[in-house]
Amino acid sequence: MASQTKVDYDAIGIGAGFAGLALIHYAREAGLSVRIFDKATDIGGTWTWNRYPGAASDSECFYYCLTFSRELLQEWSWSVRYPGQPENLRYMHFVADRCKMWPHIQLNTAITRADFDEAAGIWRITAADGSTSTCRYFVSAMGMISEPVIPNFKGMGRFKGPCFHSARWPEGLDYAGKRIGIIGSGATTVQMLPEVAKTAAQVTVFQRTANFIMPAVQKPMTPEWEKEIKANYDKIINTCRNHVFGMCFNSPVGRTIEGTPPEEVQRILEENWPRGSFSFVFETFDDLLTNAESNRIAGEFVIRKMLEKVKDPDVRDMLTPKGYPFFAKRPPLDHNFHEAFNRDNVKLVDIGEREPLVEITETGIRTTKQDYDFDIIVLATGFQAYTGAQEALAIRGQNGQLLRDKWEDVSGSIMGVFVAGFPNLFMVTGPQAPFANLPTSIEQNTMYIVDCIKKMEAEGLKLCLPKQDAEDSWVAHTADIHRQTLMAQGDKVYSWMMGANLNNRQPRVLIYFGGANVYYDKLRESVNSGFPEVAFA
Ligand code: NAP
Repeated sequence: MASQTKVDYDAIGIGAGFAGLALIHYAREAGLSVRIFDKATDIGGTWTWNRYPGAASDSECFYYCLTFSRELLQEWSWSVRYPGQPENLRYMHFVADRCKMWPHIQLNTAITRADFDEAAGIWRITAADGSTSTCRYFVSAMGMISEPVIPNFKGMGRFKGPCFHSARWPEGLDYAGKRIGIIGSGATTVQMLPEVAKTAAQVTVFQRTANFIMPAVQKPMTPEWEKEIKANYDKIINTCRNHVFGMCFNSPVGRTIEGTPPEEVQRILEENWPRGSFSFVFETFDDLLTNAESNRIAGEFVIRKMLEKVKDPDVRDMLTPKGYPFFAKRPPLDHNFHEAFNRDNVKLVDIGEREPLVEITETGIRTTKQDYDFDIIVLATGFQAYTGAQEALAIRGQNGQLLRDKWEDVSGSIMGVFVAGFPNLFMVTGPQAPFANLPTSIEQNTMYIVDCIKKMEAEGLKLCLPKQDAEDSWVAHTADIHRQTLMAQGDKVYSWMMGANLNNRQPRVLIYFGGANVYYDKLRESVNSGFPEVAFA
């Protein structure tokens, strides 16, 4: 029997980024009433929070977008291969405008708790101002990499100038002529450094671990290229849907480093390097990520190519990734990051081994060797990926269990969507979903969630009860696959992908590494067999 309890909305989602927009589309298409809450002042998710100079997508524009409307894909025009934050945000406004989504969106609303009311079989969602809304289906659309991690450095709060996380860049901050210290050297810093170095008086990057970095090769969208893209959207969407990382690459290519003569390997790597993007990994050889020796050869090539741009041998040494395989951490794409270190106003400090960071002072940053004075400190220290957003609010399921308590030791789920003990809760790209081109994964997840809801609506089912044994199987399967990957090769591999950037948590398997395409197939199999991972009541 369907719930007789009156609710404010059929579905409530938190998060007005790509996932929230996709949810509005697919829920509305299914005839559901839907409300999206977001604490931000604008839609956009990642693209409204990450306003640091140089912020851009690392996926190419033509597949870093929502695909549910062929009309929208034809109407929108990108200006460059990797659009910057303002352009991505404009695109999301275009989607919301054209699809008349705004009436479903409530901004400036921080949700602080979500409680499952067992007697009524509904979710009660509470905002910071105490207002509540009820729904039958509660969807976390809060993003995979959205909750900033601010390390607890000694002296935090003492610095007199602006000190903020990279995802909270203050609007209108004038950094021209200023001395800037950046802690962290991940994908964010790789994008930010070249841009801020243009006008800052001085920029110092405090790096703990060096990265493998591949060239982005930014370029303008030409009319010919746009025409070709727009004529091939069905193929592009299909390629992403069937790609191991949800991206538009033609892989497998049908050759391996192991099976290719060494000179030919070098020729092919050399030929593909200037193309930019992740094509270097996906469209050269099929064994880069699976064969240790092939990975070593490709990794050495990457190191040689990236460091030949750096003049100072000491800086080259510091920028050399050591102790972990290529692609075991998410490699950033380079927009003149290495060249920035050739500028007189850019300095690199190794806080990994040479001079660990001791504390933040009133005037800057102290390492074991020296005091560095700054006007601005940027904490480009990453995010609590996959679980951070959900754990930032109090989500209570059956018996009042808190989701963050359930995830204390293992951040388990069923396919990144369901959690046992949390009826009618659905996550878009939750923990143990793949790490892939996000719009692709988001749409696949959202279609899956709405298919489950459609079944419940059609059959008069009130509750979707994820099964604990299905969760245990997915957790075990995800761990088993992880053990077979590069990510399981030693301590140095640990990154946000393992939740290893959190002081208060043991590293854990947060990502399904069995291939996004395989995962999307599993979602479809689940739909076709009536969602065997959950019980309905
Ligand atoms: P990140 O890759 O996690 O990098 C954080 C940096 O801060 C690392 O260098 C890390 O060092 C350092 N760090 C963290 N805690 C520290 C501590 N206590 N002491 C010293 N150093 C510390 O974060 P991110 O650069 O923001 O990127 C995160 C992810 O977001 C990316 O991998 C990517 O998926 C996504 N992203 C995407 C784009 C894009 O697509 N264009 C742009 C930005 C971010 P260790 O490496 O030693 O831990």
